[in-house]
Amino acid sequence: MSIPVYNRGLVYHKVSENFEWGLTTTTPQQFKAQMLALQRLGFSFSRIKDLDSVENPILVTFDDGYSSVMEHAAPVLDEIGGVATVFAITDYVGKKNTWDYFPAAKQVTHMDWTELRILHERGWEIGSHGRTHRRLIGMSPKQLKDELRSSKQEIEERLGKEVTTFCPPFNAWSNDLLEDIEQAGYTKIAISYPLAKLPKWSGEFVPRLGVYLHDMLPLFIAKIKTGPLAPLEVLQQQLINMAGNGKLLESWVDPE
Ligand SMILES: [Zn+2]
Repeated sequence: MSIPVYNRGLVYHKVSENFEWGLTTTTPQQFKAQMLALQRLGFSFSRIKDLDSVENPILVTFDDGYSSVMEHAAPVLDEIGGVATVFAITDYVGKKNTWDYFPAAKQVTHMDWTELRILHERGWEIGSHGRTHRRLIGMSPKQLKDELRSSKQEIEERLGKEVTTFCPPFNAWSNDLLEDIEQAGYTKIAISYPLAKLPKWSGEFVPRLGVYLHDMLPLFIAKIKTGPLAPLEVLQQQLINMAGNGKLLESWVDPE
């Protein structure tokens, strides 16, 4: 590995030809070029749960678990012997993304349990993205427990494997949630790149940068190389979080 590495976590949503204004879609051609570039750079494609035991890992992750991941991303990773992590929303497995802001005509389908099982059997990690993709901040303690625990339990029952990684919907998390996340049995939390120092807890934060439609190969490579987070990148991440949420700053919680 000749280049210094700054960031090892990448977040994708949809991998598809269909344009959308939220820009969280990567085309199949872009995705393939990006994976081949990572392979050329000598990275080992790792599941988040194996992060600490893999040398020179790269973490390719897919939030929400869309069907397009099975259709367009999985074949590319299969071809190069790579694995990834998918964050499933358990109430929406096999259903349309009616939780999102898109009008009905623009809605897309999430992978079903059979597809998630196939990926799991190919060595992918299936983590939890909650039960309903609602913001955890401000929830009642009972709702919060349910989101954290029932989603974990359902994936474990369906796939027969312990779930240890949680990804907060809309990247909305705060210090107040850490104890509940820990008590629910998670040891890793996948988040977007933080702007401030992360708080201590018994588990591990896994920072990731989003990959978007306009990320041509040089910008994509820049996301991984050493360097302070470029202001453009920060702005981009904030806009994307806002697009998926309708609110800007709440998804950039300042952990003191
Ligand atoms: Zn999501």
